[in-house]
Amino acid sequence: MTDTLTPEQRHHVMAAIHGKDTKPEKIVRQYLWHQGYRYRLNHPRLPGKPDIVLLKYRTCIFVNGCFWHGHEGCKSYVMPKSNTAFWEKKILRNQTRDRNVKEKLAQMGWHCITVWECGLKPDKRQETLQYIEYTLNDYYLKDHTPKPTHTPTTFNTNFDPLPLAAEESENNNN
Ligand SMILES: [Zn+2]
Repeated sequence: MTDTLTPEQRHHVMAAIHGKDTKPEKIVRQYLWHQGYRYRLNHPRLPGKPDIVLLKYRTCIFVNGCFWHGHEGCKSYVMPKSNTAFWEKKILRNQTRDRNVKEKLAQMGWHCITVWECGLKPDKRQETLQYIEYTLNDYYLKDHTPKPTHTPTTFNTNFDPLPLAAEESENNNN
């Protein structure tokens, strides 16, 4: 079938089909919101402007595209055959930045959860979202001691067990 749409029309059609709702970050936000969590977006004063910030849980959630952030071992993280050196350098830089951001946040007493885009595909979505909730409630909120053995390997959500710094009173309502 010939494609008779202009690029702009096609964009609108695709947007209507897929909807903004399918954006990975929004999937996570909508789920958390419906479960009663309240958060801030892109907190400007925190390193790396985390996508989602839950003050109550002192947790930052980053929703990462698998290619751009170099999701090791992921099917979506495949180097283009041309300009390979350029892309490798670029993604290595992103990975280094991500690591530094998490280290800074940890020093400030924040937990980080990294959600990979591939973990939000329909067949894995529920598992990933439930894991985020589990992490927040059964780990970060109830028990602040780090458990290195807690790190799951079966989930697509990277879990970074980090100790909380001294408890701070919450002056902000999120
Ligand atoms: Zn991935």
